[in-house]
Amino acid sequence: MQVFKFGGASVKSAENIKNVVSIVEKYRDSSLLVVVSAMGKTTDKLVRITDSYYKQTGEAFDLLESLKQEHFDVLHALFPADHPVFDDIANTFVEIEWILEEEPQDEYEYLFDQIVSVGELLSTKIVAAYSSYMGQPTQWVDARDFILTDNSYREGKVDWEKTEEKIRKELPTILDEYIVVTQGFIGSTTENFTTTLGREGSDYSAAIFAASLNAENITIWKDVPGVLNADPKWFDKTELIPELSYTDAIELTYYGATVIHPKTIKPLQNKKITLNVRSFVNPEEPGTQIKTTNQTLPVPSFIFKVNQVFINIQPRDFSFIVEDNFSHIFDAFHKNRIKINMMHNSAISFSVAVDDTGENVQSLLEQLEKRYKVSVESGLELITIRYYNQQTIDRVLVNKEIIRELKDSYTCQMLVKDKDE
Ligand code: ASP
Ligand code: MG
Repeated sequence: MQVFKFGGASVKSAENIKNVVSIVEKYRDSSLLVVVSAMGKTTDKLVRITDSYYKQTGEAFDLLESLKQEHFDVLHALFPADHPVFDDIANTFVEIEWILEEEPQDEYEYLFDQIVSVGELLSTKIVAAYSSYMGQPTQWVDARDFILTDNSYREGKVDWEKTEEKIRKELPTILDEYIVVTQGFIGSTTENFTTTLGREGSDYSAAIFAASLNAENITIWKDVPGVLNADPKWFDKTELIPELSYTDAIELTYYGATVIHPKTIKPLQNKKITLNVRSFVNPEEPGTQIKTTNQTLPVPSFIFKVNQVFINIQPRDFSFIVEDNFSHIFDAFHKNRIKINMMHNSAISFSVAVDDTGENVQSLLEQLEKRYKVSVESGLELITIRYYNQQTIDRVLVNKEIIRELKDSYTCQMLVKDKDE
């Protein structure tokens, strides 16, 4: 069996949904489980609705109304007006309306998952209904019956044992008869409360299903031709990497390549399941295969992260940075949900680069300043080159000044800022 994953861009319009369903029809050559993300920018909009509701700013219902309109526009373009999917989608929106009608009592993280998860319920109901309407035997499945997590809302940790057991027991018989369409990104606690797996987590969901079902392969369909050696946003010319080892793929995503969610690869590597990254725009192209191979990257790969803050931390008494300080420092990062993109320590200081996420970084700094001398520089860029050489370094450093540089045999990371004119 195979697993396909379609992201938000692939289902953002009626036209795109038609394309997804035609790919499913054409490129399934065994039983197939299809994981779908929320349509277009739906998740961002649901986050805004959650924020507005939680802070009671009064816009939540209007925002919801416009999101509803977008979904209904798509329905009208796909189905005749008497199709049951209209009621199904209306009822799914009612789940959010019920929450919004009451004053917020619960913690933000919990509310976030209850509201934001609806995006994937909507998109999958539409895709499944359209696939059936096009004559393919299709079954919509609720991922929350299968992907079981703890109650870390917004970042649910998967209980692999329970999840695998559930998936293996119930899904294969359905897959014998139907194309299964299910949600990425969402799961459930054992008490049946909805959780989410972290932003952009649908790739990870697809990997969980693929690993549990011992799939032959998994294909992530994207709006790019495959894994490229750099994001086309940064370079005029990029190169497609036809074949990539699991290790290189893990390294690239760890350093911030956004083409695949970083958690996706490990479970596939454990089961030796090939991961294809292909274009939903040109589905006949082979794209990239991620698998067991001794092949190193054929070309150096570049990852750019803008909007970085450099934080330098020193104990106030200039004592050495010792283990006790480290555990305190890492705890502060963890509590504020801040991921470290680069770190370096010396005898008397510890420094990191992180994404400038605003509020969280402020709260982190306040916490650190209670105990340490902290200096901060923002507006920086982090450049990572996998399989670097001097020529590639020179290429990215034009008009840039290096603030910190870290190198190992394969990877070079440089934190830089624009040179003053
Ligand atoms: N819809 C979710 C998000 O935008 C999950 C995903 O797209 O992978 O974060
Ligand atoms: Mg998305």
